[in-house]
Amino acid sequence: MLQITNLHAEIDGKPILKGLTLSLNAGEVHAIMGPNGAGKSTLGYVLGGRPGYEVTEGSVTFNGTDLLELEPHERAAAGLFLGFQYPVEIPGVSNVQFLRESLNSQRRARDEAPLSGAEFLKLARAQAAALEMDAEMLKRPVNVGFSGGEKKRNEMVQMGILAPRLAILDETDSGLDIDALRIVGEGINRIMRAPDKAVLLITHYQRLLDYVKPDFVHILADGRIVKTGGPELALELEREGYAQVAA
Ligand code: ADP
Ligand code: MG
Ligand code: MG
Repeated sequence: MLQITNLHAEIDGKPILKGLTLSLNAGEVHAIMGPNGAGKSTLGYVLGGRPGYEVTEGSVTFNGTDLLELEPHERAAAGLFLGFQYPVEIPGVSNVQFLRESLNSQRRARDEAPLSGAEFLKLARAQAAALEMDAEMLKRPVNVGFSGGEKKRNEMVQMGILAPRLAILDETDSGLDIDALRIVGEGINRIMRAPDKAVLLITHYQRLLDYVKPDFVHILADGRIVKTGGPELALELEREGYAQVAA
């Protein structure tokens, strides 16, 4: 589904990703762990197509298409979803407006009929309920005044509505209390655990991986993958730290 080969990327002329290679098949969950500043969020931004992140070498294909040639909205329409470490606030635009427009623009790009207001509301309410988010929050401006945990939960509602093929989730577990962590973890499994979907989970902590069992765990350090293992690698990291395990 996703093939990243020898990816080099820089911000403001500063190299951040330095030859990152990673391959991910449909049906798999991969976790990426690594020290602060390793380039984890940069990887997410480069895959999402955020302006200012320049790819200087390497390639990324998504279901056989050159991902780096696509505009961000084309990547989304192709089924890529990026969950941000710091979800953005959009004053003046309600969650419902934002999500309906996002979904329908993606559906139009795929030659699928847009959902009517009533059809969309039914879908949005069902997703909010599944994530135990008060449906009233759908009417509020996107993320404005939401707590850290509410923003993360709201992102999972977005993911449930957009139903992507590949989700890249950047520290989706940060700021969540224990109950919210379980709800979000179960949400990821419900929405994304399927033979034709895949997840790239960026996380610092083992605790989310108790709910969302990864098939592979990678350590990202200084812009490249320095070690790959199974779920046991996350436990080893938790016990011994990055310096020890990645050495
Ligand atoms: P991680 O998510 O692994 O903690 P990031 O991808 O956020 O790391 O950052 C990787 C490195 O890139 C860090 O050293 C960070 O300071 C640097 N960096 C990120 N954004 C910018 C920017 N806009 N300008 C300069 N350096 C940046
Ligand atoms: Mg960080
Ligand atoms: Mg980060």
